[in-house]
Amino acid sequence: MTTLEIKNLHVQAEGQHILKGVNLTVSTGEIHAIMGPNGTGKSTLSETIMGRSGYQVTEGDILLDGKSILNWTVDERARHGLFLAMQYPQEIPGITNMEFIRAAVNAGRPKEKAIKVRDFLQQLDEKMALLKIPEEMAERYLNEGFSGGEKKRNEILQLLMLKPRFAILDEIDSGLDIDALTIVAKGVNSLRGTEFGSLIITHYQRLLKYIVPDVVHIMMGGRIVKTGGPDLAAELEKTGYEGLAKTLGLET
Ligand code: ADP
Ligand code: MG
Ligand code: MG
Repeated sequence: MTTLEIKNLHVQAEGQHILKGVNLTVSTGEIHAIMGPNGTGKSTLSETIMGRSGYQVTEGDILLDGKSILNWTVDERARHGLFLAMQYPQEIPGITNMEFIRAAVNAGRPKEKAIKVRDFLQQLDEKMALLKIPEEMAERYLNEGFSGGEKKRNEILQLLMLKPRFAILDEIDSGLDIDALTIVAKGVNSLRGTEFGSLIITHYQRLLKYIVPDVVHIMMGGRIVKTGGPDLAAELEKTGYEGLAKTLGLET
């Protein structure tokens, strides 16, 4: 079992204090959801876990199996099994989708253990079929001219091919129609197991009907203000964030 621990995390971006003491522990075998209103720092948390530039940790720590990863680069974090699917996937011209995925798979392995082309193609075919991604998408340049839904599905394809230990999925449901949503959920659910943990970030309960989390956290004002089971998402849908804040005696 591997554990990702966020301890009293405070983060600033461009001088603004965004995360104000986030505490959270996810182990492989678990799926945690983080819900929260816009602007509360959910994406800041994802980016900071991944080590993206522009986010300064001013207090607290992020630990993987008890070891601080704060000084690790984005690549090192990825090599140790962290994966972030972004709200707005980037376009990378000049590199095909297939080349990108193969490079990413191999980046996590020593040179002599590079994946065999035949094995790679076989796995890729299998996962693309599962996600109902048309074959020609493998040959297209990464995210260039992909529709919003295609980009999301393609990120889930990367996720299935990379099989990270921890996946952070930041609003993978935004802009997906119900059919795409069920396919994306099927992909994520196929990874469920003792070797896989996930933080699923979403505004809405909808996604969590398809990917049922073990734990739900609610984030407001740069902190986790409430933690519970899957029912918490349904409860929140009724009260709304403002209602919850009132109950908790928080200012909004
Ligand atoms: P959420 O994902 O919950 O909507 P974000 O983490 O995107 O919230 O944003 C939280 C707050 O931090 C917002 O006020 C946003 O404008 C600000 N913020 C996020 N990233 C940056 C950045 N790189 N530079 C400056 N401010 C940022
Ligand atoms: Mg946002
Ligand atoms: Mg966000």
